[in-house]
Amino acid sequence: MLVFKTVRELQQFLSTVASNSIGFVPTMGALHQGHLSLIEKSQQQNELTVCSVFVNPTQFNNKEDLLNYPRNISADIQFLACFDCDNEEKRVVLFLPSENEIYPNKIEKNYDFGNLSLVMEAQHRPGHFNGVAMVIERFFDIVQPTKAYFGEKDFQQLAVVRNLVKQLNLSVQIIGCPIVREANNLAMSSRNERLTPEQKEQAANIYKFLQHAKQHAKTLTVEEVKNNFVDSIKNIPTLQLEYFEIADGNTLLSINNWSETNYCVAFVAVFVGNVRLIDNVTLHKD
Ligand code: AMP
Repeated sequence: MLVFKTVRELQQFLSTVASNSIGFVPTMGALHQGHLSLIEKSQQQNELTVCSVFVNPTQFNNKEDLLNYPRNISADIQFLACFDCDNEEKRVVLFLPSENEIYPNKIEKNYDFGNLSLVMEAQHRPGHFNGVAMVIERFFDIVQPTKAYFGEKDFQQLAVVRNLVKQLNLSVQIIGCPIVREANNLAMSSRNERLTPEQKEQAANIYKFLQHAKQHAKTLTVEEVKNNFVDSIKNIPTLQLEYFEIADGNTLLSINNWSETNYCVAFVAVFVGNVRLIDNVTLHKD
């Protein structure tokens, strides 16, 4: 598999391939089946896929989280090498830039995503989406992709990226991809590597309780569904709830009544020990 470490090398390569469509999959590495689902979707839809692995420091509001973030480039290369990456018709190349390549002049940009910058992840991780937007704008500029692939696991991030593309009037098409889960239904995440087997089992309750919320959507009130979720999590001592929200899937504004939206999503952030996990489930979309 071709691996590029500098912007110049990558762009030189991209200029030599007569590709009508470039798919781009940005990741922070510690690759798993969730990432792979994005890469495979890109391979189906494009002649060439660029997958980046870059642990973006500007999106971490917590230094310890950045230090502890799992990194294993050789395992990532091996993981990708198993999946037909050198097939001419659906080639995948890897971009592994250093911090200097991505932020050569260290200029901080500031974005306004309206409500998307205020709720849930934005509220609990100040500056997070500003950092995400900085790195994604830079990557789009480098790669000039036709399409870019993002997981619905990071639902709010997907909304922010769509908003960024609109604000900057970019021609890239953003493709949202469904959440891939472990056998026990825990949403796959690089952070799961830091969980013990027992913690993984406990964390499987997150999805179970999201499913309870889905079952009771519309038969109970929004407040009752929220209270039940909070109480269920409280009963599992290893899980610490950061937030649980029921919101409109387009605006991400919290709702108080089911009738406020016909696209309703439940969002959760939970700590298992010092590992922070997020998940979401669509309650109804009609
Ligand atoms: P990350 O490496 O965690 O920054 O994720 C890179 C991309 O993979 C993001 O667009 C994520 O939303 C997506 N992703 C991560 N985990 C999953 C998953 N379990 N299912 C689908 N997409 C995922």
